[in-house]
Amino acid sequence: MNKDQMNPESLMMTHGYKPELSEGAVKCPVFQTSTFVFKTAEEGKAFFEIAYGLRDKEPKEELGLIYSRINNPNLEILENRLCLWDKADDCAVFESGMSAISTVLLEFLKPGDLLVYSNPTYGGTDHFINHFLPKIGVHTLGILPGQTDEEIISAIENTNHADSLAMIYLETPANPTNHLVDIQSTKKNIANYFSTKNNKEVLIAVDNTYMGPIWQHPLQLGADLIIYSATKYIGGHSDVIAGAVLGNQELMIRVKTLRTFLGNMISPYTAWLLLRSLETLKIRMDKQAENAQKVAEYLQHHPKVEKVYFLGLLNENDPEFNIYKKQCSGAGAMISFDIKGGEKEAFQFLNQLKLIKLAVSLGSTESLAQHPNRMTHAGVDPEHRLKLNITDKMIRLSVGVENHQDIISDIKQAFEAVVTTKQMIH
Ligand SMILES: *Cc1c(COP(=O)(O)O)cnc(C)c1O
Repeated sequence: MNKDQMNPESLMMTHGYKPELSEGAVKCPVFQTSTFVFKTAEEGKAFFEIAYGLRDKEPKEELGLIYSRINNPNLEILENRLCLWDKADDCAVFESGMSAISTVLLEFLKPGDLLVYSNPTYGGTDHFINHFLPKIGVHTLGILPGQTDEEIISAIENTNHADSLAMIYLETPANPTNHLVDIQSTKKNIANYFSTKNNKEVLIAVDNTYMGPIWQHPLQLGADLIIYSATKYIGGHSDVIAGAVLGNQELMIRVKTLRTFLGNMISPYTAWLLLRSLETLKIRMDKQAENAQKVAEYLQHHPKVEKVYFLGLLNENDPEFNIYKKQCSGAGAMISFDIKGGEKEAFQFLNQLKLIKLAVSLGSTESLAQHPNRMTHAGVDPEHRLKLNITDKMIRLSVGVENHQDIISDIKQAFEAVVTTKQMIH
């Protein structure tokens, strides 16, 4: 059987690691070293020529190990393994999801450029786009759920910067509402339209943290770059902060070069922990999705719940249903719901949880719950939040790998502590 035909989960224990280079160790050791010994001065010279792009690689020539800001075996093996899930040419791993995001935005945008981005987006991304990019003269335009491609095109044209459109940044499903953006139609109808008109390629970058790398593969849908907070499902144990970017060779050389000079690469030990996480990625995520479907169905029928935001409950008549079917291979394990009432009821519920931890972040083995309007999204423009359905009623759940009956029992007993006042019932 050919390795190329195997599924990524079968290769997560071995791909990219050669035991004979590490005393036969079955597991990749931690290469906790800052620098690497060259065999000869000539070899060191050749490595630097490649690393700094002073000449093209000879056929079969590989970049040798130089210095852990530039390359390190733990980083490289992790990158090779991450490439398998998304069928990407190359990957760059970072010390956080935010460093992956900010490096991509800094590399592909320059003063005068226009960035179009979907709303809602992760709070840190929203802050970087709205508070940092304007300082370096990058124009930004946020698009809202429900806007048609035609409406988005005319909004772009109305900015007076349409001819400088450089990138469309999407987060789909969006945190915390699970709203979807159609990646294929964004590529076909918007990015291609302006690429042709401006005679300059408009890139699409997708933050795939909510789905990845199992349930959605944006490169296959026309995106140019995928970004992950590896802190979430990839790490999966709430014990590391990390990020990753994937894409084709040409774009990834640029991302890796900026990473070398910003120095925001992952550390060898964090990369080693992520290698360990990747071995169980598929079974963790499968189990989390299975649990989430059961939890969402329970919530949907609970008398104290007003509305559930979960892809696995989308109705066939919902305009997002078709996007979901063509874009995602599963519904994921992130659920938001509106509790009947407001902040008081939501907080009563959250304070009563026993098994589910009251904490931000997501994608880990343990279930987590939080209140987006007063926690993760508290920094987002209040008017925007209202338009996006992020209100005091909303609770976000990240479903873990526990027994689903225990998760549901915990939710059930927490609802029992919620006292709905008479006014609320009417
Ligand atoms: C957490 C998160 C980020 C930021 O990642 P860090 O690892 O915390 O820097 C970006 N995007 C999404 C969707 C996230 O959930």
